[in-house]
Amino acid sequence: MNLHEYQGKEILSSFGVRVQRGIVATTPEKAVEAAQEMNHKTGTNWWVVKAQIHAGGRGKGGGVKLAKSLEEVREKASEIIGMNLITPQTSKKGKKVHQVLIAEDMYYPGEAETEEFYMSILLDRVKAKNIIVYSTEGGMDIETVAEKTPSLIFTEEIDPAVGLQNFQARRIAFNLGLSGEAFKNMVKFVIALYKAYLSSDATLFEINPVLKTSDNQIAAVDAKVTIDNNSLFRHSDFLKLRDIREEDPTEVEAGEAGLNFVKLEGNVGCMVNGAGLAMATMDIIKLSGGDPANFLDVGGTADAERVEKAFRIILADDRVQAILVNIFGGIVRCDRVAQGILDAYKNMSDFIKVPIIVRLQGTNAEIAKKMIDDSGLKVVSAITLEEAAAEVTQALNK
Ligand code: GDP
Ligand code: MN
Repeated sequence: MNLHEYQGKEILSSFGVRVQRGIVATTPEKAVEAAQEMNHKTGTNWWVVKAQIHAGGRGKGGGVKLAKSLEEVREKASEIIGMNLITPQTSKKGKKVHQVLIAEDMYYPGEAETEEFYMSILLDRVKAKNIIVYSTEGGMDIETVAEKTPSLIFTEEIDPAVGLQNFQARRIAFNLGLSGEAFKNMVKFVIALYKAYLSSDATLFEINPVLKTSDNQIAAVDAKVTIDNNSLFRHSDFLKLRDIREEDPTEVEAGEAGLNFVKLEGNVGCMVNGAGLAMATMDIIKLSGGDPANFLDVGGTADAERVEKAFRIILADDRVQAILVNIFGGIVRCDRVAQGILDAYKNMSDFIKVPIIVRLQGTNAEIAKKMIDDSGLKVVSAITLEEAAAEVTQALNK
């Protein structure tokens, strides 16, 4: 589950991580009130108006603006709220902004003495360790740094048995070129940040930039936080942080129907049972010259109702030119699945405009194939993976 910047900062702050403080507002009027409140709380006379969407690169898209008066706060907030924000991390369509964070300006006074760093914490699945990735090159897109100046990116591996050690936090502060007060504050920052990451069962913390202010404070100016969905059962307080407006509507619908669905960019829809089979099926689609349009796991019960729901979800994507159904009938017999597919097809035949290739393997596969072949519907059957791939190729070349 992805969080908004302001929500991520609330979590960080609750673990003692210093953050750029702010208040969320949904209208320009509330933005001005928020700015006044920030002035009372922090004494700031400059504010940053920051679009809250689930995507980075907002600054580049015009979603982060400095305001030097309350009038400017109103102006910038009314520009940003309701805008369609397009950033390097959104689709071409962009994302609608529903709310802004009115944050204290942390760069003034003495902007020349500020420094921006990059820091993220994430799980390295190959090493089976959490790692802290950090760089002196903050504020810009880390992929570019990785490409142009990889030597400026450092990694600290955390041993899960002993956790983050003080010497590691000191090494980070040292590698970032800090000394004195800033060094001490960075050590504190890293330790608190790691504690927040572990305790909140996050899979990603990305803080870009981490700011060294002109008076040597270290603070998170931005926060990209992803929480592990499998941990939400023990974080009931996080459930209310979910903002489904930010999620793909078909993924939300699929989730409600109990289908495991991930939208991808290709042209061949994919319906399977089991995640491993889904991976193999995506390989077959590639082999056929196509590109997977999605990952959809219908799970153990491929009955007509679920299959129909799955077809509707796949077909909501107008890039889909063919659908490959690849189901292994182990516990659920293939003839049952075939019946489910045929029933679903009949119920929605007006809606289906693309070829459907069905490969059923397992118990009663032959019977299932015959049922499909005899149905008179525009569904092509296959038994082997090669056949299925060839049928997909043919469907795409029509
Ligand atoms: P992102 O573009 O989505 O990554 O959003 P950020 O929160 O990282 O903000 C983008 C950029 O705005 C940062 O890299 C900073 O350079 C700038 N910025 C953020 N907060 C302030 C601030 O308090 N004062 C000033 N002057 N610039 C800021
Ligand atoms: Mn950022």
